[in-house]
Amino acid sequence: MLDVQDVSELLALRGPEQEELFARARLKRTEVFGAEVVVRGVTEITNQCRVNCEFCPMRRDNTRANTGFRLGSDDLVDVAAAIKASGIDVVFFQGGEVPQTTRVVGEAIPRIREMYGDDVEILLNLGNKRRDEYEYLREQGATSYILKYETSDPRLNEEMRHETLESRLTCLQDLLDLGYRVGTGSIIGLPGQDLRSVARDIVFARDLGVHMCSVAPFVPAPDTPLAGHPGGDVELTLNAIAASRLVQPDWLIPAVSALSKRAGEGQHRGLMAGANVITINFTPEEQRDRYLIYGRERFVVKRDYATRLITQTGLTPRGSVFLGQPVPEAGDRA
Ligand code: SF4
Repeated sequence: MLDVQDVSELLALRGPEQEELFARARLKRTEVFGAEVVVRGVTEITNQCRVNCEFCPMRRDNTRANTGFRLGSDDLVDVAAAIKASGIDVVFFQGGEVPQTTRVVGEAIPRIREMYGDDVEILLNLGNKRRDEYEYLREQGATSYILKYETSDPRLNEEMRHETLESRLTCLQDLLDLGYRVGTGSIIGLPGQDLRSVARDIVFARDLGVHMCSVAPFVPAPDTPLAGHPGGDVELTLNAIAASRLVQPDWLIPAVSALSKRAGEGQHRGLMAGANVITINFTPEEQRDRYLIYGRERFVVKRDYATRLITQTGLTPRGSVFLGQPVPEAGDRA
């Protein structure tokens, strides 16, 4: 089993050794998943957030300056219909952390499940919630939940998010206990972060027993305290993707859009480093421009781009890996 020291060494590789690392990661991916990439359809449901993350333009301090939006249940069902029409069976709702999303999403889920004849994965990324809210969403039919800790370093986490890492971990444990397929992830390039800290993030996620894990390069966004901080290192991010694949071969690991924002070929290289998920954006255009996760100039993944990307890497698109699998018991992977 790879430990923090092993992972730190993998993260430092460059040149031919880095290529070898990517090849090992691709091989592991093929062993577990075949030559396939999971395709998700995402819609962003609100740009309002009660948290004040240093790196995010949707942070609480910017609420007044941003034009707020919040989709309703009918909107979510409409977007899900568009996702279904594209042949995608992973419907992904993400948004800022506000309590109102529980009801809006909870009301939409059964209607979406019915539309799909129950053959759909409902994936959520709506931040910290109370356990009874997670329970309600699960009962309504949610399958999976992404809750990134961003960094597993408790001090840095508190500096960046103004919340405790502990509160995030409690939510992650609640999600696992309730039978969600759970994703987490980290940002690469936060102030004061070093190689060992990135390695610890990956090993930490394995020890949590999650089913999906992402790494994304930090993207400096305007109107945030970190606007002047340099962007995350793409090579290090790619190595972290490959190392994650070796640490836990059956993880779903996305090639995130922030990779393409930082470097033109970033997502292609993410897939070549062992990632196996691409997310296509279905947010209605008017709202998409207001969802400022990386500022106004973010990179939006559309259907054609994703298809081209997957074909170029010699992989084929596929649907949810969780459908038809037995619901995990609490702690079955820890
Ligand atoms: S990163 Fe998420 S939790 Fe933090 S301010 Fe942005 S939307 Fe809110």
